[in-house]
Amino acid sequence: MYTTRHFDIAELVPPDLHRQWHHAPERLFMLFDITALRTLDALRDRYGPIVVNNWHAGGSFRLSGWRPWDCAEGAALSQHKTGRAFDCKFTRVHAEEVREDLARTPDTAPFMDIRRVESFGGMQWFHFDTGNHAREQAGVLVVGRGATPKATRRTKTSNATDTGRHGQGRNA
Ligand SMILES: [Zn+2]
Repeated sequence: MYTTRHFDIAELVPPDLHRQWHHAPERLFMLFDITALRTLDALRDRYGPIVVNNWHAGGSFRLSGWRPWDCAEGAALSQHKTGRAFDCKFTRVHAEEVREDLARTPDTAPFMDIRRVESFGGMQWFHFDTGNHAREQAGVLVVGRGATPKATRRTKTSNATDTGRHGQGRNA
């Protein structure tokens, strides 16, 4: 089981669910996609402190990680409801800088497992998810019409031995 190095489970789930299951955090970690959890830690490694939920510290964010199926906030079929999405509030960089880094270098850590991001005008947080989008063929999906460049399609390198004809590397 992968449990986040930088985040307590309270930062990833809403308060009522935490109250019910905090004695068994591994059950709560089971709600999440493992690559989404790894990506969250990798973003923290690169960009410094990230706020996901902060209700446990008296803040107002409680639905930035996992969301219940009947949650009225956000999209009806949000990837947050399948444990594949996080809304990251960075304290040292702007979310738009992170989206631009992703567009520039999509195949490097911490971006290589991200399949979709949201980019709406003035969006102050970084929503990423690992939802069912065929990134290998179509590139990272940018949802919204914000400033984030769409140039996230996987680029062919001149090194032919890298992934082989049909990308038989890690993304195959
Ligand atoms: Zn989100």
